[in-house]
Amino acid sequence: MDCKCLPGCPFFNDRMDSMPSTANIMKKKYCQGSFESCARFMIFSKLGKPAVPTDLFPNEVEKAKSIIG
Ligand code: SF4
Repeated sequence: MDCKCLPGCPFFNDRMDSMPSTANIMKKKYCQGSFESCARFMIFSKLGKPAVPTDLFPNEVEKAKSIIG
C-alpha cells in the first residue's frame, strides 16, 4: 500500500540533499509497502509534519524513536 505522505515526501521525490544508493529499494520497501515502519512516517504520525527532520531516512528508526521520546 502506498504511504499517504508520498506526494509531498522529500525522500520519495528525491528532494533530500543526499540520497542513499539504496533509495529505490527503500521506496519499494517503505513508501510503497510498510510505510508504518518508516522513520519519517513514525514522526509524522505522532508529532506532525513539521517535526520530521529534513535529512531523516526511512530506515533511521532509532533516530525517530529518540525524537518521539
Ligand atoms: S514511507 Fe516514509 S519516506 Fe516514504 S513517502 Fe512515506 S513518509 Fe515519505
